[in-house]
Amino acid sequence: MALKIHTSAPWTLRDAEDYYGIKRWGGNHFSIGEDGGLCVHPCADHRKIRLLDIVNEAASMGLRAPLTIRVQDLLRHRVTQLNEAFRTAVAQEEYSGVFRGVFPIKVNQLREVVEEILDAGEEYGFGLEAGSKPELLIALAALDSKHALLICNGYKDAEYIRLALLGRKLGKNIILVVEQLSEIDDILRIAKETGIEPRLGLRIKLRTTGEGKWATSSGEDAKFGLTTGEVMLAVSKLKKAGLENILQLVHFHIGSQVPNILTIKKAVVEATRFYVELHKLGFNMKLIDVGGGLGIDYDGSRANYESSMNYSLEEYARDVVSNIKSVCDNAGVPVPDIVSESGRALVAPHSILILEVVDRISKSTPFHSLNGKKKKKHKKHEVILALEHIFNDSDQYGRLERFHDAQQKKEEAQTLFTLGFLDLETRAEAESLFWKICADIRQKSAAARGYLPDELAQLNTMLAEQYVCNFSVFQSLLDHWALDQLFPILPIHRLDEKPTVETVLVDITCDSDGKVSRFIDLEDVRGTLALHPLQPNKPYYLGVFLVGAYQDIMGDLHNLFGRVNEVHVFLEEDEEDGFYIEESINGARVDKILEMIQWDGEELARLMKKQIDRATKADEVRPREGVRMLEMYEELLREKTYLNPREKSRPKKTK
Ligand SMILES: *Cc1c(COP(=O)(O)O)cnc(C)c1O
Repeated sequence: MALKIHTSAPWTLRDAEDYYGIKRWGGNHFSIGEDGGLCVHPCADHRKIRLLDIVNEAASMGLRAPLTIRVQDLLRHRVTQLNEAFRTAVAQEEYSGVFRGVFPIKVNQLREVVEEILDAGEEYGFGLEAGSKPELLIALAALDSKHALLICNGYKDAEYIRLALLGRKLGKNIILVVEQLSEIDDILRIAKETGIEPRLGLRIKLRTTGEGKWATSSGEDAKFGLTTGEVMLAVSKLKKAGLENILQLVHFHIGSQVPNILTIKKAVVEATRFYVELHKLGFNMKLIDVGGGLGIDYDGSRANYESSMNYSLEEYARDVVSNIKSVCDNAGVPVPDIVSESGRALVAPHSILILEVVDRISKSTPFHSLNGKKKKKHKKHEVILALEHIFNDSDQYGRLERFHDAQQKKEEAQTLFTLGFLDLETRAEAESLFWKICADIRQKSAAARGYLPDELAQLNTMLAEQYVCNFSVFQSLLDHWALDQLFPILPIHRLDEKPTVETVLVDITCDSDGKVSRFIDLEDVRGTLALHPLQPNKPYYLGVFLVGAYQDIMGDLHNLFGRVNEVHVFLEEDEEDGFYIEESINGARVDKILEMIQWDGEELARLMKKQIDRATKADEVRPREGVRMLEMYEELLREKTYLNPREKSRPKKTK
C-alpha cells in the first residue's frame, strides 16, 4: 500500500517524516525542526545542523546549488559504527582473531573522504583497498602505517606489481590478491628480480552468487577470481617454489548492495572452507577478506529488494564472525583475522546532494483564446462540445468510461488537426479540456474508496507536474539512470507545510532520460513525489540523500555539465545547531571541462574574436558592442556549467 496523503486532517511534522520515510532510511541521523527545516545529526545524538543553514552559508561564499554537502562527522561516525559492530561481534562470539577493515578507494576517491576515513579509523587499524594503479598510488602515499592493511585487487601489470613491492620494501602491510592465474608468474618473477618478498591472497570464484544488481560479480561466469582448478594450479606453483609462507589470505567479493543476508552467510561459509583447506595444505593462512556487499537501506523497507537490505550492520558483523568461527572450529583450524572491504555502507550516508527547483512544467496549461471571450458559442467545434459534455456531465458514466471517452475525443481532435480540419486554437482548447477532465477524475478517485483500476491509478503520473532541477542526472545520480537505483529525495525546508503537488523531477540536460520518476516507497516504488508549490522569487531546495558512494565520484559530462560545488561541514561543539565549513571546492569551470575534450578556451576566444572583428569591420556590429560580446564570451568560459537562476538579481557591472 502506498502511503497516501490525507486530504482533510491537518498536516503535521510527523506526516512529513512518514511520507518521506526519514526515520526509516535515515535512522537517527535526520530530524525535522519545529520550523519545518530538515536537520542532520552527524553522530546520531542530540547535536544537529539545519541543512538550509549550510546551503545559505555556502551561497554566501558563492557556492550555489547544485551543491554536495559532505557531513564529515557523519562519515567518521560510520567508520566507528562498522568497527564497533565487528568488535562487539568478536567479543560476543568469543572469537580469537580480530577485525581489520579496509576502505575500497574506488567507492569515493576524494582526498578529504579517504583522509577522514583513515583518521577516524586509525585507532582500529583501518586500512585501504586499491583496484588499479592510480588507486594504489593514492593508497601507498596516504596510508602511512606498517600495521594497517593495504589490499591490492584488480588487474595487475608488471608496473602495478612493482609498485606494490615497493610498498613492501617500506615495511607496509601489503597483500597482493591474485585475481587471474597469470598474475602468479609475474609476481613470482618480479619478486625474484627485486628480492622483495610479496604477501599473497587468492580471490576465489565462489559458487554462491549474489542477488540484486551486481549478482554477476561472483559465480562461475564472474570476471574476477580463480576457479577451483586454478586455485590448485596456483597452489602447486607456490609449493614448487617453496613459498608456502607467502600465501596468507582468501578473498571473495560477491557484488555490491547484497540485499539478502542468506547470500552473505553462504558465501562466508564457502570461502572459509577454502581457507581451511589451504591451511591443511600447509600454507601460512592468516586472513579472510569478505569483500564488499554490505548494503544501504535506500528505501528504508528492510526488504530483500535491490534498493534495500533485510539485515542490519550488527547482524552482518555477527554472521560473518560466527560463520567463519564455526567452519574453522569444525575443522580444528585456528581462526583468521577478518578483513572487510565495505565501501558503500561506509560512505553513502555522509553525502547530500542539494538541488534547486528552477521551473515547473505542467501539461494542463489553462486555455487562452486569442479572441478572449468574444468567441461565439455556435462556432464551437463538435469535438469541443463533446469534451465539454464529458467534463460537465460527471455522474452519468463510471470514471473509467469517462476517461476512455475523453481519450477518444482528444485523439480525434489531434487527428483532425493533423489532417487540416482543426485550427491551432481549437486543438489547444481540446487538450486543455482533456486535462481538466483527467484532473476531475483523479480528484474523484482519490475521494472514493475501494479498488482503483490501473489506468486511473496512472492518472497521478500523467498529471504530475515536472519540476525542473538545476543539475544533471548523468553527473550526480548516475546509478539512478543506469541501474534504476532509488535514492531518498525530499525538500529540506517547508516540511511543516503539506506538499500538494504531485511531481516528477527533470534535469537540465537535453536528454529525455535525464529525469527522476521513481521514488522510494515502503512497498513497491512511487511514480510521483509530492512537493510544495513553488513560490515566486523564493528558492526551493531538495535534498537527495545517501549519495556518498559511487554517485558523487563517478558522474559523466553529458551535455558538459561538470562536477558540482561542494562544502565539507563539521559540527561546532560550543554552539547550539552550530557548524563550520572547513573546506569548499568550486564546481567545474566551463573552460576546464572543454580542455578535457581538446577545446582550448583561449583558442576558442581567438576564433570568436576573429568573427566579431570581421562583423565590426563590416559595420554589422558597433565597436563597443563587439568588445562587450567578447567579454561576455570569455567570462562565461570561466563560469560554472550549471544554470545561474539568479542572474537577474546580480548587480550589473558598470563601466
Ligand atoms: C567495489 C568493490 C568493493 C566495494 O563494495 P561495496 O559493496 O561498495 O562495499 C569491495 N571489494 C571489491 C573487490 C570491489 O570491487
